[in-house]
Amino acid sequence: MTTKSGPFDWSGGHPALDLVNTLDERPSQAPVENLAVYCNLVRFTEAAGLIGSSVAANLRPLDGPACANALRGAQKLRESLYAVLTANEIGRPIKPAALDAIALQVRRAHAARTFVSTSRSGVVAQRWISPASPEVPLHACALAIESLLVSADWSRIRKCCADDCEVFFLDTSKARRRQWCSMQNCGNRAKQRRWRRGQE
Ligand SMILES: [Zn+2]
Repeated sequence: MTTKSGPFDWSGGHPALDLVNTLDERPSQAPVENLAVYCNLVRFTEAAGLIGSSVAANLRPLDGPACANALRGAQKLRESLYAVLTANEIGRPIKPAALDAIALQVRRAHAARTFVSTSRSGVVAQRWISPASPEVPLHACALAIESLLVSADWSRIRKCCADDCEVFFLDTSKARRRQWCSMQNCGNRAKQRRWRRGQE
């Protein structure tokens, strides 16, 4: 359970997986796009803790072709990660095109960062070179994906066991037996199905 706001699914347990899950109901005929407009992307990256609230406040009112491009870039990046996760899930080789697309955005994201000294002497922080650039949320997503690919325990990344759910999550449970994106949703539905079968 999470208290994070918005229409987003926060059961991923990692911002990059939460990003993949922003396209909801993937197995259906009509998946629900929760990153439909640019301000959704800003809202997601802020709520996921990928950009700060002051950066987000400046980006939220932006509109225009650069914002549309950044949004498309984030959706494409998300689908590249989805391709990687799906290949891993079904035990197929990962297509180099998906990894190349991610690597390109990761390189661009690193180029958008710089170091600054903070008020305390000898302390250095990383910042966006142009925090008002519409691409900042796209870069933030790329860096989240990089952290997942480089540091996550891949044996813990799984897809929800429900047939009609493609939510991915990081299983951080001690027993490593998490099956459902959420107990409230898919877990309960499975319980009800088992109960109904028992009644037949
Ligand atoms: Zn599920």
